[in-house]
Amino acid sequence: MKALLARDGAAHLAEIPVPDIGAGEFLLKVEVCGLCGTDVMKLDTRAPGAVLGHELCGVVEKTGPGSTFRIGERVVVSHHVPCLDCHYCRKGSESMCRQFKATNIQPGGFADYVRVPALHSQHATFRVPEGLDPVSASQTEPLACVLRNVKRLEAGPGDVIGVVGLGAMGQMTGQLLKLRGAHPVGLDLDASRAASFGRWGTAATDRDRFVSAGKAASENRGFDAVVFSAGTPALVAASLSWLRDGGTLNIFASFHPDPFLKLDMNAVYHRELTVMSSYSPSLVDLRESFELIASGQFKPLFLKPEQFPFSSFDDAVRAVKTRKTLKSILVPG
Ligand SMILES: [Zn+2]
Ligand SMILES: [Zn+2]
Repeated sequence: MKALLARDGAAHLAEIPVPDIGAGEFLLKVEVCGLCGTDVMKLDTRAPGAVLGHELCGVVEKTGPGSTFRIGERVVVSHHVPCLDCHYCRKGSESMCRQFKATNIQPGGFADYVRVPALHSQHATFRVPEGLDPVSASQTEPLACVLRNVKRLEAGPGDVIGVVGLGAMGQMTGQLLKLRGAHPVGLDLDASRAASFGRWGTAATDRDRFVSAGKAASENRGFDAVVFSAGTPALVAASLSWLRDGGTLNIFASFHPDPFLKLDMNAVYHRELTVMSSYSPSLVDLRESFELIASGQFKPLFLKPEQFPFSSFDDAVRAVKTRKTLKSILVPG
């Protein structure tokens, strides 16, 4: 079978054996797998042992003894499974659980077939209902990341939330905030991305308009929170003055190549600001995310995902990096 494997900072389409499956496991025939920013980052930073592709949807091809899935069922699979029993899990940091980090699908979502281990099969696999398209279903994991972040922000009616960086994750944040009754205000230099965000709230292509839109929507208090889905350390530092007193600075992206920040700690202290982040979802977040998509409440297709065969992986990456598309989806071929 064909699979995209990471080597020397690039993805190579290799011919490898179809994985064997054991008890409680199943083999998934991949239909689609979304390209995540972290796939690109893993390649750019030459992360050792990188597994590419984790936004996958497909059809059960073969089942191991004791599997609860049937051949032909369409499912969505997530790639990490927490133990739910360790100190991290008990404290709500499931994505920091050592098992979470150690578990994965094999060889990764950009492959013709994927071995889904028993743990994933049991805890992180969702049956796709009739009528839900595989591309929408594949966005369960990224939406779960967004959902976890929005839940941690406790964003709801009356809240004005700034979103900096209106790529796929920023756009999904806007849609989810609107769904939860908050008022999102987006910032992106790209006019088409700002226009796309406009359907969820207010959007601006320059910083001054963004800040004044936040003030206008909040009786001049400023943002309850500012979410950085992209940006620069300098912009993050400046954002303290955009927050209301008691507001939250939220880091929802990795910063490359320079992650270091000079921050006014006196403002953080005297104004009781919170600095927080959110990275990866819990099992509950995944389940809730899947239900939001399956019920039609959340619609991933507004991202207008563009499909590329595995053999055009570089084009799929370029399309996102050059802002030609919000979301690239890889398909076998
Ligand atoms: Zn991802
Ligand atoms: Zn754990």
